Amino acid sequence: MIQRISPITTALPELIQLEELIDQGRQHLRINVPLHITLGEHKLPFYVLEMGSTEPLAPTLALIGGVHGVERIGTQVILSFLKSLLTRLEWDPVATDMLSQMRLMLIPIVNPGGMWANSRSNPQGIDLMRNAPVEADERPPFLVGGQRISRHLPWFRGRRGESMASESQALVDSIRTTLMSQRHCISLDCHSGFGYKDRIWFPWAKSVEPFPGVADAYALTRLFERTYPNHSVYLFEPQAHSYTTHGDLWDFLYEEYRQAQPEGLYLPLTLEMGSWLWVKKNPGHLFRYHSLFNPILPHRHQRILRRHFTLFEFLMSAVRSMPVWSPEGELPRLTAKQEALERWYPGRLTSRG
Ligand SMILES: [Zn+2]
Repeated sequence: MIQRISPITTALPELIQLEELIDQGRQHLRINVPLHITLGEHKLPFYVLEMGSTEPLAPTLALIGGVHGVERIGTQVILSFLKSLLTRLEWDPVATDMLSQMRLMLIPIVNPGGMWANSRSNPQGIDLMRNAPVEADERPPFLVGGQRISRHLPWFRGRRGESMASESQALVDSIRTTLMSQRHCISLDCHSGFGYKDRIWFPWAKSVEPFPGVADAYALTRLFERTYPNHSVYLFEPQAHSYTTHGDLWDFLYEEYRQAQPEGLYLPLTLEMGSWLWVKKNPGHLFRYHSLFNPILPHRHQRILRRHFTLFEFLMSAVRSMPVWSPEGELPRLTAKQEALERWYPGRLTSRG
């Protein structure tokens, strides 16, 4: 037993921490393991946790991490938040009340095999965030937009015609089960590595055109900015402002959701923590691949674990009160959409009058 645990402790401390939290919070958690990833003699679990309301129509927030194995900080931020939440549930009736009216879903380690190997892709070399059956409208940037040339190059989408990787499929199935029947849901997929700012991306990844929920994305952005005017760490924007890609799982799931719930509200968000800032402050990072995606200095690491708690708590409240702040009715929706276009698509407005 010790022999089996010891390599996991070294290679995947996040999994050990997750299992300790499951032990700590068992009474509050509903635990599902739809998949194990086999690596040699090890079987790494794909955990799906749920907590809070079991009402069929409870508004739902999903927190996702570890899609890219090297971006461990996303997983660590979620685990840190879960630890605080479980501790609050021991003494704080506000936390209990909050969860009684919403559902929280957590998939902290989507790609345990990749995280074990400290690689972006899964053990088969597939980039899970390029792996959905979605083609970009315009030609995305070479390689980074997703490629089918070789699994030995980054951003490999998988072979044409092959079914999705088991991790992608397990993520899609879990989101389908939990979100597709809901009227109000938000998901936040936590990554790191791109740019100097912490970005909150909403769809599309596949297109530079506005996505159908842009009015709701705008309303949520303004809600955050008005509620936390001094918390200006986030740049809210469509992902395609940074780059477009093939195969984005959230583009795929959002399209499915719209089919299933034409009247529902679902915002699939990605938190892209800007790690170039960490590199700028400590150029030594450039020589360590892992540290390009993860803060290594202890004070910086702690600060980043704390930094996103406000966002997570905000999203818990926001999903619960979606009908209050999302623009309802034809005129408010039109106004919000117009303001969204002015903010994020000014060229588009000018060129089309
Ligand atoms: Zn990523």
